[in-house]
Amino acid sequence: MTIVFKLSDNLKPQMLEFYQDRMSETKPPYSVFQVKDFDCVTTLYESGKVMFQGIGADIEASYWIEQERIKNNRLISLDSNNKAKEEKSFLLRKSTIGSDEVGTGDFFGPIVVTATFVAEKDFDFLTNLGVRDSKKIDDAKIMKIAPQIMAKIPYSSYILTNSTYNKNWSETLNMNKIKALLHNKVLYNLQTKNYPYEKIVVDQFVYPKKYYEYISEVKNQATNITFMTKAEDKVLSVAAASIISRYIFLNEMTKLSEKYGLTLPKGAGPIVDEIGVKIVKKYGMKELENIAKLNFKNKDKIKNSLKN
Ligand code: MN
Repeated sequence: MTIVFKLSDNLKPQMLEFYQDRMSETKPPYSVFQVKDFDCVTTLYESGKVMFQGIGADIEASYWIEQERIKNNRLISLDSNNKAKEEKSFLLRKSTIGSDEVGTGDFFGPIVVTATFVAEKDFDFLTNLGVRDSKKIDDAKIMKIAPQIMAKIPYSSYILTNSTYNKNWSETLNMNKIKALLHNKVLYNLQTKNYPYEKIVVDQFVYPKKYYEYISEVKNQATNITFMTKAEDKVLSVAAASIISRYIFLNEMTKLSEKYGLTLPKGAGPIVDEIGVKIVKKYGMKELENIAKLNFKNKDKIKNSLKN
């Protein structure tokens, strides 16, 4: 079995240290070193290619594939013939300010938006926490890693409460406009703090022209924004912002759940209507103003089930 891939430059010192006591006296042409273990021969070439040969090649290679994932966000996998192939996932290797929001699809609970500033020096810290796959992180892990991120990474968050939302937005709802205004608010907060960022990135939810139209009446505008689809996967400041937003949102939901003695569900599905009915029966329709987004169809569904 032979596995070959190109090792990233920043892992070379780590690899040299890892194998230093076991390196062979001799080495093949154009190689940096060779290690001959009983089940695997490992060779690093001057070109940067690393080759693992033998029955233990996959095990030996897997450690370095994991290091590439953790340290460099490279996703290398082995196909059925043990040929290494790399997923074309790209990470923006720049210091950025980025923002993301949560709660816009949830009937219950506020909308939370966050912007973070992530410098290149913080990449290792964040990727080691698993921030890269922010969409796949479950709530328990959010509760664990968000405080660590918030203690180290500069951020600005804003909570749009249900009562404010319902007062100002319920009538003329345009969720994209709300998002644009909220993103602008937190981005502006960070942009004016003189962090050495190279780009401001927003997870694209609307065309740039429209975005600027939405914020055109706001005095304090964050400028020179790069709009990117799936920015959460590509830009660590956006991924970190998403995690912090989710953390704050979860805490708000917990507070509300405790206050009403019911677990408020996320989303806008049938379970949401069910709980909504319970709350209205106990506290009255008016109470929804403080805990839900009243322009959602859920409100009418709740009303209708109360009639029956
Ligand atoms: Mn988003």
